[in-house]
Amino acid sequence: MKLDEIFCGLPYGFSSFAAVKDRLIECRAKARLPQNAETVISVLFPYYLGEEYYKNANVSRYAVSADYHIITGGIMEHIVSALRETYPENTFEYFVDNSPLPEVRCAAAAGLGVIGRNALFISPVYGSWVFLGEIVTDKYFPPAAPAENFCVGCSKCVSACPVGAIGDTGVTPEKCLSYLSQKKGELDPAVAQKMVEYNCAWGCDICQKVCPMNAGARLTPIEAFFDTARPYVTAADEIEGRAFAWRGKKVIERNLEALNASEKTSE
Ligand code: SF4
Ligand code: SF4
Repeated sequence: MKLDEIFCGLPYGFSSFAAVKDRLIECRAKARLPQNAETVISVLFPYYLGEEYYKNANVSRYAVSADYHIITGGIMEHIVSALRETYPENTFEYFVDNSPLPEVRCAAAAGLGVIGRNALFISPVYGSWVFLGEIVTDKYFPPAAPAENFCVGCSKCVSACPVGAIGDTGVTPEKCLSYLSQKKGELDPAVAQKMVEYNCAWGCDICQKVCPMNAGARLTPIEAFFDTARPYVTAADEIEGRAFAWRGKKVIERNLEALNASEKTSE
């Protein structure tokens, strides 16, 4: 089977495992890395549905469709079984989200795009509206040629971020609304106010919406993202099968309470 067929038309690229082996992230998934790993294959899963799908959204665009762990995991299962069949002598292990690899760096090193000032990966075709996945193998595939892999550096994301979370060295998670909307515990009133202002029940897309590299992003070729689109959440018992289900009901309940309280006071 040819590689393009194996990857179902999704963008993919190769980088050297040796280049990241000293930068691995400590997590349980690390134990699944193949011995004698040679190559990291980065795969992009675009999820952009078009602006009309995001009207009145109160969740980040990545969470509009059904849980991406399930959708991308299903596609990865398919890809990896085709790789194992095509190269039976080799080992292939895949990672989506729960990855020991520095995902953004690997995708950029594989020649699939660049790293933005907002620390996100940006594809020249699909923009930053992509999920990243990796397959690690002991088979050698020639890595992409080293290239300049940073965004155009226009700083629009820096100016647009409502909480000043993007600095010279990347994003400070403790300031970022996306991170804070997912964190357990009580909401700081100043954070709650910003979440109300930007209608964030989960996540924040402001720095991506203003990025010029996202202008003209191509729609996802993955039908399942269209079929399951729901751009809002209204009650904590609606989390089943959604990208934020892993966090449990309490966090969504807390965020919705903050949004609803503000609606009541403005009535
Ligand atoms: S996600 Fe929102 S809060 Fe976080 S860096 Fe981007 S604009 Fe700032
Ligand atoms: S808005 Fe400008 S600086 Fe920020 S990620 Fe996009 S291109 Fe880079």
